[in-house]
Amino acid sequence: MRLHSGMSEEARIRDGIELASARKRLQELEARKTVLLAHLAELRQVLAGTRPVSELSSEMISRFTIDVRGATDRFLLRGIEDKLDSLARETDAKIFKLKELLAHAAICPRCNGSGSIVKESVERDPDNAPVTHMTVSSCPQCGGSGKAEAEMI
Ligand SMILES: [Zn+2]
Repeated sequence: MRLHSGMSEEARIRDGIELASARKRLQELEARKTVLLAHLAELRQVLAGTRPVSELSSEMISRFTIDVRGATDRFLLRGIEDKLDSLARETDAKIFKLKELLAHAAICPRCNGSGSIVKESVERDPDNAPVTHMTVSSCPQCGGSGKAEAEMI
């Protein structure tokens, strides 16, 4: 069932209808991951004592309502670190899945990326024994490149 719904998403992307939005979503996720990793790096410097908590970015401070006037709870900071870490992992998983979908969408759906179509036919030799003939021809949809049409990508 999961595979089935994944395939229909792939099919829609192949149609080219959702390809642009999938690309945009991938860019957004990558930008989000960059921000999460920057937040994590900042926070780890604070936890390691190489950066004062007052020098955290204002974005971090407002996002997590961190008290910078001192007495910042290390337990709280560890909690934020865990949260950021799991968000970064989730984002990574989404990026991986989307990249996979986009890679599949770039493959010609007719020949599955091989660039050729194989036809089998069974004929009879003079002794009436079946002989299988294989005919390989260039894929008519992608012209043998194995890639989806340029306008679809
Ligand atoms: Zn093809």
